Amino acid sequence: MPDCLFCGIVEGSVPSTGVLETERCYAFRDINPAAPVHVLVVPREHVGGVDELGPEHAGLLADLFAAVNQVAEKEGVAESGFRVVANVGEDAGQLVGHLHLHVLGGRSLRWPPKGAQAGD
Ligand code: AMP
Ligand code: ZN
Repeated sequence: MPDCLFCGIVEGSVPSTGVLETERCYAFRDINPAAPVHVLVVPREHVGGVDELGPEHAGLLADLFAAVNQVAEKEGVAESGFRVVANVGEDAGQLVGHLHLHVLGGRSLRWPPKGAQAGD
């Protein structure tokens, strides 16, 4: 997909700090972390977002969540707990149109998110 930032990161033409590589997924540190652990997990294949997922992506989603769990183990938050977030569309503040899961942890995360300044 031309002009997709996260496709560029997957290819390596855009730099990133990698955390995990699997056959179908890549995980890297968020450039603007909202928590001590803030990793983005993306499929190597371009999918626009949660709103573009269909039954044909079942295997890809299983791999994506398996990668999330591996990231949580590697980053030391599997026991303490972590949050998995997918922003969809304008009200959720989605900035990048390539499916990605945020893995957040390393501190106590509030719930529910209260507003634009809450950060979580
Ligand atoms: P969203 O689309 O709202 O789920 O957010 C996209 C996320 O990507 C934000 O948390 C950004 O900080 C992060 N981000 C944007 N550009 C980069 C980059 N070049 N490397 C790593 N993370 C990025
Ligand atoms: Zn892409």
